[in-house]
Amino acid sequence: MTESTTLLKGGRVVAADGEYDADVLVVGEQIAAVGQIEAPDGAAVVDVSGCLLLPGLIDNHTHLTMPFMGMWSQDDYDTGTQAAAAGGVTCIVDFAIQSDPESLQSALTEWQGRAAGTAHVDYGFHMAITAATPAAIEDMAVMVDAGVASFKLFMAYKGALMVRDDELAMAMERARDLGALTMVHAENGDMVDLLVTRARGEGNTSAVHHALTRPEFVEAEATGRAARIAEYTGASLFVVHVTCAAAAAEIEAAQQRGARVSGETCTQYLVNTIDDLRRPGVEGCRYICSPPLRDTANHAPLWDYVGRGVLESVSTDHCPFNDEQKSRGLDDFSLVPNGLPVIQHRLAKLWDEGVMAGHITPSQLVDRTSTTVARRFGLQAKGSITPGKDADIVVFDPAAPRAYGVANSFMNVDYDLYEGETASASVRHTYCRGTLVYDQGEIRTAPGHGKYVARSLSVPEAVTAP
Ligand SMILES: [Zn+2]
Repeated sequence: MTESTTLLKGGRVVAADGEYDADVLVVGEQIAAVGQIEAPDGAAVVDVSGCLLLPGLIDNHTHLTMPFMGMWSQDDYDTGTQAAAAGGVTCIVDFAIQSDPESLQSALTEWQGRAAGTAHVDYGFHMAITAATPAAIEDMAVMVDAGVASFKLFMAYKGALMVRDDELAMAMERARDLGALTMVHAENGDMVDLLVTRARGEGNTSAVHHALTRPEFVEAEATGRAARIAEYTGASLFVVHVTCAAAAAEIEAAQQRGARVSGETCTQYLVNTIDDLRRPGVEGCRYICSPPLRDTANHAPLWDYVGRGVLESVSTDHCPFNDEQKSRGLDDFSLVPNGLPVIQHRLAKLWDEGVMAGHITPSQLVDRTSTTVARRFGLQAKGSITPGKDADIVVFDPAAPRAYGVANSFMNVDYDLYEGETASASVRHTYCRGTLVYDQGEIRTAPGHGKYVARSLSVPEAVTAP
């Protein structure tokens, strides 16, 4: 059998450590060569002059078909990964959520079943531990053997997902012994519970009160607490969805003490604000996520933390709910399902509001959305345009504007947060393991092209940020 051969001719490769003009030869599922390349006999030649070639983006924080407050997030592995590909994403790491206190395996089996034969781009899983029982702690080794090398615990959502500090510490110790990564949703769940109860009692029930009952100190305190417990246990910690300078400062302080603590922020925390929650009616409810959107004053410091690599990833926390679901909390913000639809828009938003605005370089964008993310989460075959790696490549046209909006969206949700706006640049093609998945507005693959990726444990510390 002859493997398909494609030559991407005349583009400019963006790597984490610089940019250069080069052709990229793809043979089968892998990158075969990068440089000045004459087309081999039988190769399909694609003219990508004027375009940037980025390593396929990795979204290390998504929630497809996620159960939450008796509802389901609206993107499944079919629609969610179509939208991912349209946004230049070739691999996601989604969260499987423990539901049986005695087992993690049952949750992994459930999520594997949903994704198998459905996804258009590759996928892996983190395991969210919601009950750190001895059986669940024991099961962590089984997860690592199955390629699930990271475990998330919730310090908020009291009475549902939240764990106590002793449970967090025991999970961290086990992860440390296994060489795996611990992740936390860092908010002080007891404080949130108190403030939400008070607000509702006082009749403060509109969407903005979601944010006002989860003030910055609630996140910063939990971030600092998790970092201290990680430092004490010697665990490696990754703080998800950091929203504000106060929380990021706790991560940097821990790093300066020598603790193995890092984190991410998400696209929406860099471009949206608490004022979006003040929009009328269901529009305000669309922006409810936890931790909440903050004020504009946090944007510049967050970009700075991203630029310096204290926050080493920018993901999406994609978790879409439609207007009907969001409307259930029109009279009580605490009934609104948490989550925003962002998976398709990360690259375009980070390009315009990060690169074009002068906050980060194209190489830093590549690093924080692909190269360092691949290293941190044990995706050995991904993260750079290098011979031998998976041919996960985005052909990105910096001179091709594209309108945001439901009409151009593959996300299975009945609104678009950026409706009416236009991105200055757009994805022309997305290749996942050498196969053209997204092609100028169309999805070319059938469900099932995306494969499960068992992730390795190699979590390098002290990644030097470019
Ligand atoms: Zn999340």
